Amino acid sequence: MKPQVSLAELPLRPELVGEEPYGAPQLDVPVRLNVNENPYPPSPAIIADMADAVAAAAAQIDRYPDREALGLRADLAGYLGHGLSAANLWAANGSNEVMTHLLGAFAGPGRTVLTFAPTYSMYPEYARNTHSEYVVVPRRDDFTVAADDALAAIAEHQPSVVIITTPNNPTGTTTPLAEIEKILAGTEAIVVVDEAYQEFARHPEQTALTLLPRFGNLVVSRTMSKAFALAGGRVGYLAAAPAIVDACRIVRLPYHLSAQTQALARVALAHATEMLAKVDELRATRDELLLRLPQLGVEVIDSDANFCLFGRFADRHDVWQRLLDRGVLVRETGPAGYLRVSVGTPAEMAQFYQALTDVIEEIR
Ligand code: PMP
Repeated sequence: MKPQVSLAELPLRPELVGEEPYGAPQLDVPVRLNVNENPYPPSPAIIADMADAVAAAAAQIDRYPDREALGLRADLAGYLGHGLSAANLWAANGSNEVMTHLLGAFAGPGRTVLTFAPTYSMYPEYARNTHSEYVVVPRRDDFTVAADDALAAIAEHQPSVVIITTPNNPTGTTTPLAEIEKILAGTEAIVVVDEAYQEFARHPEQTALTLLPRFGNLVVSRTMSKAFALAGGRVGYLAAAPAIVDACRIVRLPYHLSAQTQALARVALAHATEMLAKVDELRATRDELLLRLPQLGVEVIDSDANFCLFGRFADRHDVWQRLLDRGVLVRETGPAGYLRVSVGTPAEMAQFYQALTDVIEEIR
């Protein structure tokens, strides 16, 4: 084969032909509000601790890291509480990887993954990459998941994995725990509750973690990318029965979590209070966003996360582009006509409001 080979000439899996790599545009603009990051980096003292921890890990970089990441898993259990221990916790390079471990273990050829749309756009890709069927059930008009609809769809499609995202991305909607409990009571499938944004909820204590003692098929998925402001560190985790953790351990690549990643995450967890200190402020900024957007004459969907959907625009791409032309990057995602904006710093939000006011004036 010639060296300048094109993708079309390679024996790519047929279902990947024509696919594009996933990802929102990574553009170097002044105001980046498109991937639900936490806009507050760690303090200089925590950065110094991180540097020390990475240096200590580097001193042993000739050796493989702890394959079981037991120290990190114990720290994560300590953070979550609810009587959990390291045996209940599993961690990987972002909750993206945690989810592929779950699907690798519990879905796969001839099996089905069921989710509730509109929801996180990566799930179909995890399903595709693990050769699983992917089925979506519409959410209610208020974007919550209805247990009755879910159980009917579970009876029809017999999924081996059900994913419920709460607060949901991209709508920000929390599904009441009572609905999740009803679903768990009615299925033997693995039910993954993706709580990537739980810390931003108005009632973060109303978490599916409280259901773990009663349901062996429940997995609660979390991430350090959002509330912990550790998106660059790539650490996601789950809490579940130890048997579910054991299943993930079968399919993970050996030494999947680097020594530096484990070290960085453990420093962040040791400073959890300080790392999470901005969550209250982000929640307040989110609540202000929910009030101000209607004042600008746009519709907004109530959100329990660090972002919200607003619209509806006849041509949302045009609005997205006009905001970008003013240095403000938001996300073109969700139901037709909507855009999603992440909660930034007060200065970033001021630029967003100004840009949106100008754009609305222009397109009126
Ligand atoms: N779940 C949801 C609902 C998300 O929105 C995201 C990130 N956008 C993730 C999981 C993945 O996060 P990470 O891989 O950074 O942990």
